Amino acid sequence: MSERWNPTSYERAWQERWEAAGANRTPDDDPRPKFYLLTMYPYPSGDLHIGHWYAETGPDVVARMRRMQGHNVMLPMGFDSFGLPAENAAIDRGIHPAVWTAASIERMRTQFRSMGTMFDWERELVTSEPEYYRWTQWLFVQLFKAGLAYKQMAPVDWCPKDQVVLAREQVEGADRHCWRCGTPVVKRDLEQWFFRITRYADELLDFSGIDWPEPIRLMQTNWIGRSEGAEIDFGVELAGAAPIRVFTTRPDTLFGATFMVLAPEHPAVAGLTTAEHRAEVDAYAASARRETEIERMSTERDRSGVFTGAHAVHPMNAERIPIWIADYVLPGYGTGAVMGVPAHDERDHAFAKRYDLPIRYVVVPRGGSAPEGEPFLPHTEDEVLVNSGEFDAMSAEDAIRAITARLAERGQGGPSVSYKIRDWLVSRQRYWGAPIPIVYCPDHGAQAVPEDQLPVVLPPDVDFAPTGVSPLQSHAAFLASICPVCGKPARRETDTMDTFVDSAWYFLRYCSPRDATRAWDPARVAEWLPVDLYTGGAEHAVLHLLYSRFFVKALRDLGLLTIDEPFTALRNQGQILGADHHRMSKSRGNVVNPDDLVARYGSDTVRCFLMFIGPWDQGGPWNPTGMEGISRFLARVWSVAQASGGGDGAVRQVPGMPAQSLAGEIPGSGGMPAYQVMASVQGGSQALRRMAHRTVRDVGDDYADFHFNTAVSKLMELTSALAHARDDGLAGTDAYAESVDTLLLLLAPIAPHIAEELWSRRGRPGSVHVQAWPAFDPALAAAEMIELPVQVDGKLRDRLTVAPDTSPAEVERLALASERVQAFLGGKPPARVIQVPGRLVNVVTAR
Ligand SMILES: [Zn+2]
Ligand SMILES: [Zn+2]
Repeated sequence: MSERWNPTSYERAWQERWEAAGANRTPDDDPRPKFYLLTMYPYPSGDLHIGHWYAETGPDVVARMRRMQGHNVMLPMGFDSFGLPAENAAIDRGIHPAVWTAASIERMRTQFRSMGTMFDWERELVTSEPEYYRWTQWLFVQLFKAGLAYKQMAPVDWCPKDQVVLAREQVEGADRHCWRCGTPVVKRDLEQWFFRITRYADELLDFSGIDWPEPIRLMQTNWIGRSEGAEIDFGVELAGAAPIRVFTTRPDTLFGATFMVLAPEHPAVAGLTTAEHRAEVDAYAASARRETEIERMSTERDRSGVFTGAHAVHPMNAERIPIWIADYVLPGYGTGAVMGVPAHDERDHAFAKRYDLPIRYVVVPRGGSAPEGEPFLPHTEDEVLVNSGEFDAMSAEDAIRAITARLAERGQGGPSVSYKIRDWLVSRQRYWGAPIPIVYCPDHGAQAVPEDQLPVVLPPDVDFAPTGVSPLQSHAAFLASICPVCGKPARRETDTMDTFVDSAWYFLRYCSPRDATRAWDPARVAEWLPVDLYTGGAEHAVLHLLYSRFFVKALRDLGLLTIDEPFTALRNQGQILGADHHRMSKSRGNVVNPDDLVARYGSDTVRCFLMFIGPWDQGGPWNPTGMEGISRFLARVWSVAQASGGGDGAVRQVPGMPAQSLAGEIPGSGGMPAYQVMASVQGGSQALRRMAHRTVRDVGDDYADFHFNTAVSKLMELTSALAHARDDGLAGTDAYAESVDTLLLLLAPIAPHIAEELWSRRGRPGSVHVQAWPAFDPALAAAEMIELPVQVDGKLRDRLTVAPDTSPAEVERLALASERVQAFLGGKPPARVIQVPGRLVNVVTAR
């Protein structure tokens, strides 16, 4: 009756049946506890590659298990369909981005279905559809009205290849390259829209109550870059000139300030520069503008600068301090001005050496002296001030407080906190994005498009080739609008929004994706949010993951949400690299197409293989060597399940049994004994039951912890034990039937098709995927002890009582430690020790 295993004979059929039955539809208002599991939605790149399968199988496994454990699980999927990947692909192919995007999405949907995931397609969203971006625009309007969206002229990072500005988070690496194409960015002055993420800098540093990986929290913390220090105002020797403000984390070194440096772009430079120095200053500023930030920040180059001819006044000792400009001071950091303290800062030291400016040590180790010829940088507890007037001999730590307080007293500054994070630049001069819903009236300036006029539809008939200016500027009909205040003609904003705005709120839209009257239904959002578990790539640490947190906090403060954080738990998958150990890309030709593998091996084999190749959070280079082994494993499942007559059909289940109830007492599983061992010791049925219960306990924990690879090996061991039991004639027993059912239930999340097919063939009622997760008996699951006879030269001399998974090395150690064995060895080492695992130990003496 057992037929050869052929997954293609049933996989597609089950996918269609599940879909027709609405098996993966997530109901709202369900009595079961909710579990919102989200996995980052993809760009419609045109093809699902093996990396998508890897990223999305893991959460699918957990979602399926949670559903069997009694949760109402939402696992939605959609497409992040605006943005440069679609636009660039469309340009390459000479077709419209909308056409290309629609075709890609259609293809990817089909591929997703072939994975057999439990995505609820009725909740699908596509961010480039007007029904979605209408609400992206509505959210922009809410932020604009609240003063959280504003427009400002600013020097911005510009990618010369993509012809677009980038958010600071989209500029990567020490060489400051474009996150998408790797081209070094340059600076441009442009009027741009920003979101005021900096207002939330402090709250974004607080990760309490969320379970996120340490590296992500660290990256966000460093990105926000909070530092405490002081602001100090330096008066200027020029009638009517405003003081120049600097920020420093080391106010204790104030008396060591012997010059001041402004960024060449600092607004005060023009007014300060004396006639004598103007030509030189102008030329230097112009050349600095042509340099990239990386060139300016490089530690390799000489510190150059020019003197403005002007002097500042030291706020404490009234010394005259020359004011220079230098390109190593950037306009975007701090106040764009620094006090030069060459004795205690490396860059300032190099600058002072080059231009022969005074170097004065003001902080020294207690009882010691400053180094000569180099800056004194350590900032330890045991340092004291010198050359600092009334603050001499004070500890550096006290001096920080005392000097800051004195500055505040005198109205020359005070304590201050500085952040590295800048406001989120959201304007893009490209076509394929949500138009920013603003109009400009000659009389009333920037006005939000009234909500009943949303969406501002992206017109299809636009020449979207990148030119550096927004393509919508050339569309006369789009440009023409009306001022909502006075009704006179107004001009539309032509920039589109960064696609990261689309993804900063998509998890809210999934809760009521077809609501045509509002961005989300508050009751549904209250029901589902926050997301219980979010999975995706770590590369989004300071992009999407930071923006989403900001959005939730801002929307909370606008009274639109009641949660503080979007994602309670976060897990990052590793990356599947090409076989050449490089990132998969079409240009390298190392992309693995899952469709070919699915056609050859079936979806379940590909899923199990991907989850088996290593810890999910690590990834690694593609190596399909083990695929055949996984295929043999599933064929064996097929064969052991077919051997059973079905037993009494009494599948023991406890609904809602938590999977992690025994976390922390998992014995090593690698040395799990072969089935024969247990059979010889305990009797086949009981041993099989024990193993099944132990597998329930361990696999549940492994899935919950994203340890899919070890879960698969435990399922292999149970399958192997069943095969041996069958060979020993146990196939007709209740224990065998129960263990087969258990195997199928545990396999269902990771290999959903074969589990369903065999469940059905065994005549079990309903879908395997809605069965309760199997419970286990802790006493049965606990490792039983076995007794091992110990022989010396073939004669029984002692017995050991050990756990069945005790390693051979440990068994040998215990055997040789036996006093009775020692007596026969007579103090000499044995010639060798022979073990029949799980059965006996034979110590052979040297005669
Ligand atoms: Zn680029
Ligand atoms: Zn007006």
